[in-house]
Amino acid sequence: MKVAVLPGDGIGPEIVAEALKVLEVFRGEGLSLDMKTCDIGGIAVDRHRDPLPAQTLAACRESDAILFGAIGGPQYDTLPRELRPERGLLRLRKALDLFANLRPAQVFPELAAASSLKPDIVSGLDIMIVRELTGDIYFGEPRGISHNSAGERVGVNTMVYSESEIRRVAHWGFQAAQARRKTLCSVDKMNVLETTQLWRDVVVEVSREYPDVMLTHMLVDNAAMQLVRNPRQFDVIVTGNLFGDILSDEASMLTGSIGMLPSASLNVSGLGLYEPIHGSAPDIAGRGIANPLAQILSISMMFRYSFKRPDLADRVDQAVRRVLQQGLRTADIAQPGMPTVSTSAMGDAVVAALSVH
Ligand code: NAD
Repeated sequence: MKVAVLPGDGIGPEIVAEALKVLEVFRGEGLSLDMKTCDIGGIAVDRHRDPLPAQTLAACRESDAILFGAIGGPQYDTLPRELRPERGLLRLRKALDLFANLRPAQVFPELAAASSLKPDIVSGLDIMIVRELTGDIYFGEPRGISHNSAGERVGVNTMVYSESEIRRVAHWGFQAAQARRKTLCSVDKMNVLETTQLWRDVVVEVSREYPDVMLTHMLVDNAAMQLVRNPRQFDVIVTGNLFGDILSDEASMLTGSIGMLPSASLNVSGLGLYEPIHGSAPDIAGRGIANPLAQILSISMMFRYSFKRPDLADRVDQAVRRVLQQGLRTADIAQPGMPTVSTSAMGDAVVAALSVH
């Protein structure tokens, strides 16, 4: 198994180092892993004047999976747009056609009090949002700001989805549901947007191949409301890029802990990019206090989705649960007055928990 390791900027290298400790445990048990570390984002701009150097893209193309930390930092915010670290990630997603973004939002029982919602509403929450990542209004043409005949400025973006783009992400939604509680909610806005009428029609067509999955539909405005009213009604949600962007952030915040949530972005051949949902956290970078658990849980997703090793994924998930049960907390997930541990102490605790069978 070939893994391209892209630590990136800020806390990225700190938390990737802890995830690598976890991978080393499995290598020690005989898992064959060929890892190659490459530059992306700000560090790639510093070293190569390009946020996605050709050698990084080539290494990713040759890999079975990409372990990605985080990119960005205030020192890059004034650079021309094509040199910004974020462009490196967007280009990588597009180049590898990583169209299916899987974002779990799970409340760990030990952390239920950290949510902004009442614990009785979120405890036990376990949602998977499957968001289409390479189409929709973010990429549709025409786009831009121009002037109309009256000389007034007009902004235009185009919401567009082809049947095949909808079909392939719908399959991911159904398959994710099959592996979980077998219910899929497709979110659209078919009452006013023709693009999403097509979305609904195609999802219904694909559903015939998955008779074991119960399919429901929900308008996006209602979905936004239901996520804060009764989030546990959801198992898997599948939706387009724009709606998924907003709903997945909303769902992740229900869990109250940005440092706990991993994500996967996959293409048709199963190549996946695995990363925490948070950014490079420049405010805490270099202090050894970042929470590495989202990054470590992204290893679990890598095992599950790219390497088809749910047994190893379950072991990582259980080890994380165990350290939380033991009361270990980095500062971001600690209740007031609780003692906290460093990034590396948390990684070491997960490694120790992995060896307990
Ligand atoms: P952020 O997610 O980096 O940080 C938001 C807050 O959460 C900060 O207070 C930070 O300290 C905290 N935080 C984040 N991850 C944490 C962790 N693992 N442990 C403890 N605390 C954590 O968002 P931001 O501050 O808006 O962005 C910082 C930079 O990251 C920007 O340059 C932005 O463009 C970039 N960014 C990158 C990605 C990515 O790499 N995929 C995603 C989002 C933002």
